[in-house]
Amino acid sequence: MKETVVSGIRPTGKLHLGNYFGAYKNFLRLQEETNAYFFIADYHSLTTHPTPGDLKSSVRRVLAEYIALGLDPEKCTVYIQSDVPETAELYLFLNMNAYLGELERVTSFKEKARTQPNNINAGLLTYPVLMAADILLHRGVKVPVGKDQEQHLEMSRTFANRFNRLYNVEYFPEPTAFNFGTELVKVPGLTGGGKMSKSAGEADSIYLDEEASVLKKKIMRAVSDSGNEPGAPKSQPVQNLFDLMNLVCAPEVIASFEADHKAGSIRYGDLKKQLAEDMETFIAPLRDRIQATLGDSKRLDEIAAYGAEKARLSAQKTLREVREIIGFSR
Ligand code: AMP
Repeated sequence: MKETVVSGIRPTGKLHLGNYFGAYKNFLRLQEETNAYFFIADYHSLTTHPTPGDLKSSVRRVLAEYIALGLDPEKCTVYIQSDVPETAELYLFLNMNAYLGELERVTSFKEKARTQPNNINAGLLTYPVLMAADILLHRGVKVPVGKDQEQHLEMSRTFANRFNRLYNVEYFPEPTAFNFGTELVKVPGLTGGGKMSKSAGEADSIYLDEEASVLKKKIMRAVSDSGNEPGAPKSQPVQNLFDLMNLVCAPEVIASFEADHKAGSIRYGDLKKQLAEDMETFIAPLRDRIQATLGDSKRLDEIAAYGAEKARLSAQKTLREVREIIGFSR
């Protein structure tokens, strides 16, 4: 039997390079080799309080991007999370068994609590529980995600094991974070910080449908530093630029800039120009495909309905069994 794989991306605008290399890139091979569920995490995005209009258009956009970049609704199950309300029921059950202390210790929660003190809502606190529900809903074992999700996956394992122990069953398998390369990926942004993130502002992210002129401008304005002594280590923003080059530039091009950096003679303007050119070569076909798919509303509606039906079959089975294990069945 094929392994079950589950992964989602929040519809908070458009997909960026981090979503692509951290998660989506794996989806394409996984849909060929596994029993894969790829969803659009619209429940998750409610923690940021989007307007109904923005939520609708973001969901539509991510669905179009999923399809444009190669997901095939016949080979995998593509669905919108809120079309499968069983997710919310499993979330409720898992919440009864998730503890305040462990949720408060999650790094991403602490970070959000620090950066947005006026909106520390319970959805943010229980984000790892909802994520566990997403995965356990299909009894998934592999979860293609970026490095930023490693700790959440550990919590998913904790919740799965705790449920099994509490009810003395071997029902949920242990899900693990997964990437076809060996390591989980962290794609840095352009503003010198850690990972590429929509919440770091427009200048930080490279979107998969970025217009050529905007792409060039963003990269030329990326944060670097004021140069280095020969042999000195790279600063974080400069390491970020090299990490981005690693995604799209040829090895010999990178090696030449590495040598310049080591010699203390690197010109960041040249590096960025090269990066912008190679990034445009990478992005151009994605941009064309996304734009062509966005307009096809009827097809996107059909895909969403078809995916919801398939996902609910799996979800309803799990919930039937979970209710029985808990003792709700008569
Ligand atoms: P999110 O946009 O937070 O819903 O993330 C959706 C998926 O993209 C998850 O699997 C994340 O791990 C992945 N992801 C988001 N940002 C990055 C990044 N900068 N580097 C690597 N993976 C990322």
